[in-house]
Parts: sequence; structure tokens; C-alpha cells
Amino acid sequence: MNKRVYNFSSGPAILPESVLEKAKNEMLNYQNSGMSVMEMSHRSKVYEEIIYGTEKLLRELMNIPSNYKVLFLQGGASTQFAAIPLNIGNKSGIADIIGTGMWTNKAESEARKYCKVNVVASSKDKMFSYIPEVKKEDFSPDADYVHICWNNTIYGTKYTSVPDVGNVPLVVDMSSCILSEKVDVSKFGIIFAGAQKNIGPAGLTVVIVREDLIGIHRESTPTMLTYEIHAKNDSLYNTPPTYSIYICKLVLEWLKELGGVEKIQEINERKANAFYDFLDSSKLFNSTVNPKDRSIMNIPFVTGNEEIDKKFIAAATDAGFVNLKGHRSVGGMRASIYNAMPEQGVLELIEFMKKFENK
Ligand SMILES: *Cc1c(COP(=O)(O)O)cnc(C)c1O
Repeated sequence: MNKRVYNFSSGPAILPESVLEKAKNEMLNYQNSGMSVMEMSHRSKVYEEIIYGTEKLLRELMNIPSNYKVLFLQGGASTQFAAIPLNIGNKSGIADIIGTGMWTNKAESEARKYCKVNVVASSKDKMFSYIPEVKKEDFSPDADYVHICWNNTIYGTKYTSVPDVGNVPLVVDMSSCILSEKVDVSKFGIIFAGAQKNIGPAGLTVVIVREDLIGIHRESTPTMLTYEIHAKNDSLYNTPPTYSIYICKLVLEWLKELGGVEKIQEINERKANAFYDFLDSSKLFNSTVNPKDRSIMNIPFVTGNEEIDKKFIAAATDAGFVNLKGHRSVGGMRASIYNAMPEQGVLELIEFMKKFENK
């Protein structure tokens, strides 16, 4: 390939081309500092402007209330599966979780090392193709927290409303959907996300945590996993992932310029609706997900015939639509259409699928 492709990777994933251009132009000499952002001290004035500017933009775009801290951490979303019980699973030691696929499974097994975990509901019975219904009475009233995954990257499901968990802090994994649609941050105790799906390169994890959940960690919590340490030090306790934060800032600037979360939600819904409309009308390709729980970020689909799936993936790759192979646990195909995927990319893929089907 000697040109850029339409990259439907589930993560690390597509970034806006203008962001990459800007990073390229600033690569050798960032704003007359005479050096690359990669080469700067994280304690320099010029870098402070980057990290504080990133936080300011994120607060503005997500409308984050002032009683929440924003932390820029390392270790991926997966490290949070341990950090969460260590930081907030210390009162009753009970954690409730809704099982919606591999990412909540991983969160569950990590939490079991520190807490008593109840799986309140699960969609395992139907290959995680839906979001289970829950009632407030289903949850343990004395749980330290409830854990959910808003958008299930692998299975292509997503929540459309916030479950009522009463006064228990709700912890949400938004790794593959952060900034894709409007979210009322005040409904959650903790929102966390690995950056590499929707907000930047790998290496950065964003944690948005309500202040009353900071400082209640168990004593044995490793320093680097302690929210209080990072909150007190404005995410500069040690060296943060400096370059990833810088790219995140460029992505947030791009999003703001485009019209913010409300605007991107509108575009995302249009992209996803076009895709699902095609799948629902196709005789060859089928959606695997319960219609009311369909993700607007990750769209798995199948033909029902592994040979045809393979042929389709090969033909699509040749035509410049890459990384459409489904997750190894589901098979078939998956199109990840994150914020940075242009609407044109989705429409062209649909056209390509129509032609393939006719042949
Ligand atoms: C990708 C992903 C993860 C894992 O993220 P890492 O940064 O690789 O640890 C966790 N949860 C969800 C929903 C994801 O999509």
C-alpha cells in the first residue's frame, strides 16, 4: 500500500489525518521550543501547558463537574481492573458487576483478587449479543461499587441508559466509546478509558474519578495505582505518557473544532445507522447484535459461511478497507468506526459490500 487506507481496526485505531499532519509539522520543533514533545521534560513550562491544556479541553468537551479529578495514567484500561478494587473496594469489600463480555470478565477476575464479586446479570447465555436488563433490587445495597462496560468492543453492544444502582458508585469502562456520544458524568463514580480507541495513541489511560472516591484505598495499594497520589500531583507524580497526552490534546482540539461531542454523536449515529440499515437489508451480511443494544462504534457482522467471510476480508483488504477481521472469539467481521473514521469511509465500505454481495 502506498496510500492511506480506511482502517477499521478495533484498537490501536484510526486517528484524524489532520492530527497526524499537525504532529508531523511539530515533530522536530514544537512551538519554537527547539525540540520534539518527546524530548521535553514533563516538568517544563511548555509541557505543563500541554498536559493542563489537555485536561481543560477534556473537561469542556465532556462537561466534567468540578468535583471530579481527571487523571492521565499508564498501564492501559486493564490496569484499572485492579486499581478500581484496590482504591474503592475497601469498605464492605463487595463489588457488583454486569457481565457483557470479555472486558467485564477480565475486570471480574481481577476484582476477585481483592473483593467478593457478584455477577448481577450477564448476557453470556446468548454470546453477549445483548445488554441484560437490571433493576435496582438486583444490586447489593452495601456494595462498594458496581462495574459495567458501556460499549463492548468485541461483541458490539452498548448501553443506551444508565442502570439504576441507587447510591452505590457506578464504575464504567468507556475505553471504546469515550467522547462518541453525550454522557452525564455526574451519574458515575469513575469513568475510565484506554486512549487507543477513540482519543489517541496507546500508552495513555484516562481516569475521571469523583473526589469522594479518592483517599479511601486500601493501605497495601501500590503507590502507582493509588488515585490519591496521582490526583495530588496533577498526574505528574512520575513521568506521564507525555507524547500520547500531546496527541490526545490534538485530537480534542480537532473534536472541539468539529463541533464537540454533540456534533460527533450525530455523525456517529448517521454512520452506524447507514451500516445497520445495509446489514438489515442484505441477504448475505447479518448483524449479530440485538437491535436495541447495537454499538455505534464497533459493528460485528457475519455471512454465516467462514469461507465467504475469508474471501470478503481478502477482497476488502485489496480494495483498501483493512482490519475488518472479527475478534478471534466471535469470528466473522467487525468494522470499528470510531470518531476519526470519516463518514465517507463507512459509505464506501457499504458500497463495496453491496458490490461483493451482488457478485
Ligand atoms: C481495549 C479495551 C480494554 C483494554 O484496554 P488496554 O488499554 O489494552 O488495557 C478494556 N476495555 C475495553 C472496553 C476495551 O475496548
